[in-house]
Amino acid sequence: MTEYEPVIGLEIHAELMTNSKMFCGCKVVDSVEAAPNTAVCPICLGMPGMLPVINRKAIEYAMRVALALNCDIQHHNIFARKNYFYPDLPKAYQITQYELPLGRNGWLDIELESGETKRIRIRRVHMEEDTGKLTHLDEGGSLVDYNRSGVPLLEIVSEPDIRSGEEARAYAMKIRQILRYLGVNAGDLEKGVFRVEPNISIRPVGSAEFGTRTELKNLNSFRVLADGTAFEIERQTAVLESGGQVVQETRGWHDTKRITFSQRIKEEAEDYRYFAEPDLPPLHVDDAWTERVRAALPELPEAKIARYQSDYGLSAYDSRVLAEEKEVAAWFETAVAAGAAPKSLANWISNNLFKLMNESKQAITDIKVTPVMLAELVGLVEKQVINNNTAADVLAEMFVTGQSAPTIVETKGLSQISDEDALVAIVEQVLDENPDSVAAYLDGKEKLRGWFVGQVMKATRGKANPGLVNKLLARALAKRP
Ligand code: ADP
Ligand code: MG
Ligand code: ZN
Repeated sequence: MTEYEPVIGLEIHAELMTNSKMFCGCKVVDSVEAAPNTAVCPICLGMPGMLPVINRKAIEYAMRVALALNCDIQHHNIFARKNYFYPDLPKAYQITQYELPLGRNGWLDIELESGETKRIRIRRVHMEEDTGKLTHLDEGGSLVDYNRSGVPLLEIVSEPDIRSGEEARAYAMKIRQILRYLGVNAGDLEKGVFRVEPNISIRPVGSAEFGTRTELKNLNSFRVLADGTAFEIERQTAVLESGGQVVQETRGWHDTKRITFSQRIKEEAEDYRYFAEPDLPPLHVDDAWTERVRAALPELPEAKIARYQSDYGLSAYDSRVLAEEKEVAAWFETAVAAGAAPKSLANWISNNLFKLMNESKQAITDIKVTPVMLAELVGLVEKQVINNNTAADVLAEMFVTGQSAPTIVETKGLSQISDEDALVAIVEQVLDENPDSVAAYLDGKEKLRGWFVGQVMKATRGKANPGLVNKLLARALAKRP
């Protein structure tokens, strides 16, 4: 039987977070929250005779992305008209870059589950405008909202280098992470500001030609991207194995049935009758501008992860967790700058702080705990003023009240007991009160050591210095007959 290999290329559309639209001065508004058709003007409503003007900021954002994805920047940029008749764009065409995209020949390395790295080539990064939003009514008719019409839209097209649903997911998630780092896109799939469309085909292993592809649309999560792609690979395999042919078409994902279904037979490029947009002059991007944008790029996730390992001695896993979102990474770095040990900070953030944030549904930018406050807390543990268990309680308290660790420790009397005389008395008392256990211990039941430590901790309400307790217990037990 023929063995097949999947061939997948991704088209990603990302709305850019500029203040104004791509070709007019209308504000970019939240497509869910803003009242319909409140951010529109004659230009983005497609009135005859209106002239578009290119949004410089949008081009700069697109340059950031193209550079971060290792693309060559095109000097001479031409916008084109992509003609189609559908009421989501009232002009009856979309202005887009076609033959000459802003960025070309890029690549992105993704980490596979096996731990290996794979390079996905990026064919193009170009600018276009988003379309309006149609709502089809059950009782017939459709509503149209043009707030989104003309919002700057970036398209990132990969080469067909992806081979599975999981690879597609890893690639798309990494692109989203980079866009968020660059501050150009919010990354919200559910709101549709970040949209991923895989093109999927299969071919006999060893064949150099591509098979006929289908394109999946309206995937609202990364899980659905992975599952929908995997489903499509299986479906196409079954079609070919039963002697049929794959039809080139656009397919959707059915969320409850968990299958793909045919939406429309795909247009060919010539159906769009592309031609150069006569209302816009060529856009020249010179090297000086490119180099200014490049110099202002922030440190990207990959570089950060490498630096956390080399400079802070963190594990690859911890580094990835902390660098996942740039806000968390910045918070962590501020705490390190405040003087606490990076490894301890990493632990406190990824274990305790994330848990508190999850439970209260707060982002790192919302919480009352500041990086300096956490650094202070870690400092108290390092100086053995409080032990780890107490510190966890202090952090939880700090999270709710916003009080500093020293204040909480002082008002609640939580300082660790490191006074030897005080602890010796408590140790002796615990041993006196439990003669049977002492006898059992001396008989060889060494596990009871931990139990004695627990009793001392209980007697001190968790404040005893655990290292010291262990030492004193050993000494006291050795003296028992
Ligand atoms: P369009 O879908 O607008 O016609 P392209 O031809 O540029 O655009 O291809 C879009 C995406 O589909 C790219 O990511 C490309 O790598 C991928 N692609 C092209 N041909 C195939 C194929 N036969 N199988 C899988 N992916 C493909
Ligand atoms: Mg396509
Ligand atoms: Zn407008």
